[in-house]
Amino acid sequence: MIPEDFHVHTTWCDGKDEAETIVKRAVELGMARLGFSGHAHTPCDESYCMSTENTLLYRREIESLRVKYADRIAILCGLELDMFSDTPADDFDYAIGSMHYLKFGDEYVPVDESPRILRDAAQKYCGGDMLALAEKYYEQEADVIARTHADLIGHFDLITKYNEKNALFDEESPRYLDAAFSALDALLETGRPFEVNTGAISRGYRSRPYPALPLLRRIAQKGGRVVLSSDSHSAKTLCAHFAEATALCESVGLKPEPFRVWE
Ligand SMILES: [Zn+2]
Ligand SMILES: [Zn+2]
Repeated sequence: MIPEDFHVHTTWCDGKDEAETIVKRAVELGMARLGFSGHAHTPCDESYCMSTENTLLYRREIESLRVKYADRIAILCGLELDMFSDTPADDFDYAIGSMHYLKFGDEYVPVDESPRILRDAAQKYCGGDMLALAEKYYEQEADVIARTHADLIGHFDLITKYNEKNALFDEESPRYLDAAFSALDALLETGRPFEVNTGAISRGYRSRPYPALPLLRRIAQKGGRVVLSSDSHSAKTLCAHFAEATALCESVGLKPEPFRVWE
């Protein structure tokens, strides 16, 4: 498969490199297609996402790069929608549907900011029970496509970002797996592919991509589909760890597919 990558961030949101630097790197790598997925605006947290005004400028810049590099690479302009985003993706080529916050009443707890935040939220809302926090996460995650209508399911088990070696909770426990499988099964019904996201490997948090192996096995058993993505926040991690992610998929009988926009 010719390398392609559709989960890529730039300086328009929380990425480190400008869009054109990333395009040049993609051309060097011989990529056939490159999709940008800037973080759509979330009113509950403006620290990492694009403002409404910058969303327009982002789209304009990617469009001009698409034209400028048309003879070398196909460029798509997408959005990474959060469950709580308020930007419609109608004017974009595609969208990734992700969940970055747990909502408790009026409070939005970021899932991927620090283990401390997760422990504190478990104390405050779940009697200190980290598995109850994970159950809440998957209850919410089950609706990610219903809420975003996205083409691709982003980092399905992001709640495990800081859980290498089961540091926060036991990922093999029946309670955890029941909660994760129930969200997974609900999302399989939508027909959308899950991304096999290598971003946490590149950033040193995890040794394996999202979703974890038992979840990939479940996707395979149920006839689900997967697409590779790097969740790059810099040019140097484009398509990073795709070979090992492919091998992992193949070990459970899954073959990563080329990305296609959902119709
Ligand atoms: Zn994300
Ligand atoms: Zn992302």
